[in-house]
Amino acid sequence: MQVNNVSMNLSAVSSRQYPDEGYPEIALLGRSNVGKSSLINTLINRKSFARTSSTPGKTQTLNFYNIEDILYLVDVPGYGFAKVSKKQREEFGVMIEEYLTTRKVLHGVIILVDGRHAPSDDDISMYQFVSYYHLPTLIVATKMDKVKKNQWNKTISQVNKSMNVNQTDQLQLFSAETKSGKDEVWNWIEDHMK
Ligand code: GDP
Repeated sequence: MQVNNVSMNLSAVSSRQYPDEGYPEIALLGRSNVGKSSLINTLINRKSFARTSSTPGKTQTLNFYNIEDILYLVDVPGYGFAKVSKKQREEFGVMIEEYLTTRKVLHGVIILVDGRHAPSDDDISMYQFVSYYHLPTLIVATKMDKVKKNQWNKTISQVNKSMNVNQTDQLQLFSAETKSGKDEVWNWIEDHMK
């Protein structure tokens, strides 16, 4: 998709604040620092539209990015939060769960994993969770510029094996540095907007 117009419409902490235009939504999930903001910025051809997690005081909200008035990319707060209280963590859990399990216009989710390492227990649990709710899923293994090309097949088999990726879901290698995989991620999103 050629993206020219993007706006960050809103940040929501509860379902009352979700947008109501009815555009399809694709949610992005991943551990803090995995590269979620970088993926969003790559998809929309911006350097720093989506804030990176290192931004001090970044609030933990669902961020809805309006793409060309036809789609929302939804940045879901990173799981495995190191620096938040137990209470906050529980609240994010409830918010994320409510969004993922009740949102009618949610057409699919992208789970980011770090292509340099084996998927974490959090990654695996998140995938099991969305699979249970039959949410079509694209797993994106990112930071692949840090992995030698001759190891890419190993990354693919490791992620497929440890996450037990369903046949109906997809795995895509990606790098925000080289933009490799960007078109494939957009193709998956466009296929799931229908
Ligand atoms: P977020 O917390 O998931 O939103 O992660 P960010 O997008 O803020 O990225 C976390 C860190 O990883 C930053 O220092 C990024 O520059 C770096 N990063 C993200 N994507 C890539 C990538 O594809 N390749 C490399 N080498 N670094 C990346």
